Amino acid sequence: AQSYVGFDSITQQIEHKLLKRGFQFNVIVVGPTGLGKSTLINTIFASHLIDSKGRFVADEPVRQTTEIQAASHVIVENGVKLRLNIVDTPGYGDQINNEGCWDPIIKYIKDQHSAYLRKELTAMRDRYIQDTRIHCCLFFISPTGHSLRPIDVIVMKKLSEVVNVVPVVAKSDSLTPDEREKFKAKIRDELAYHNIRLYPFDTDEDEEEEVQLNESIRQIIPFAVVGSENGVIIDGKSVRGRKNRWGVVNVEDPNHCEFVHLRNFLTRTHLQDLIETTAQIHYEAFRSKQLLALKE
Ligand code: GDP
Ligand code: MG
Repeated sequence: AQSYVGFDSITQQIEHKLLKRGFQFNVIVVGPTGLGKSTLINTIFASHLIDSKGRFVADEPVRQTTEIQAASHVIVENGVKLRLNIVDTPGYGDQINNEGCWDPIIKYIKDQHSAYLRKELTAMRDRYIQDTRIHCCLFFISPTGHSLRPIDVIVMKKLSEVVNVVPVVAKSDSLTPDEREKFKAKIRDELAYHNIRLYPFDTDEDEEEEVQLNESIRQIIPFAVVGSENGVIIDGKSVRGRKNRWGVVNVEDPNHCEFVHLRNFLTRTHLQDLIETTAQIHYEAFRSKQLLALKE
């Protein structure tokens, strides 16, 4: 007992510091207009995002996004503060000629890296740099039941080089469970065929536990999701759901869709890793390229 000096309190010291600072998580949503991007985000972060502006009133006509817009929210759970930036993009691929329609999105992501690098290189830099780097790109796939559109392949490939891409099958309530599984398998095949390397990435230092967790995520990707900002009554209880021609879909029921898996993945199992991977892989690649260019 004599030799106890007390450095084990460092974990509490770190925790205290982190709690005071809070966490920053930045998500971008990409996909055609009307696929339920805004709805899904509101469903994931649920009541937290229902703000005083009354933007999420039911039965509002489809909100069209015409430019890239970031909205910030602060969410607190049990004393942990999460600053959430949601970046909404105009429906890409809506046009007849879609050539280059992904450029503004890629540029936006790179601009955040470049802003971060500039701050890092500033002589009298702040001790804490405001982080706007995108940690996760939710990529919305139309529930066609057939295959990816050629443009989806191109855009996912480009995006995966600069950001953690997480594909979702949007509005999956429009597919039967059987159609849904076949579509998901087809998409996984296509991603492999086109050599698109998506998050999560395995690294050499990963623990067995982590490797298995990542494998389970790869088996479920793309998440077949349903979003809803409205409640429906099931067994006398109000749940988030939708009525469709087959009955009522409970968004939070894992037998109905994979919404809960996606939410767990984003907030409970991979939040920290998405942030870390952004810094260590995507930002680092950008940074070394830029610094190399400076030297030449
Ligand atoms: P965005 O343009 O991608 O942001 O799409 P919105 O979130 O504005 O949704 C467009 C329309 O689709 C709205 O009427 C939503 O109520 C509806 N919608 C959103 N998510 C789903 C879903 O999972 N299933 C079905 N069937 N409709 C949805
Ligand atoms: Mg929208």
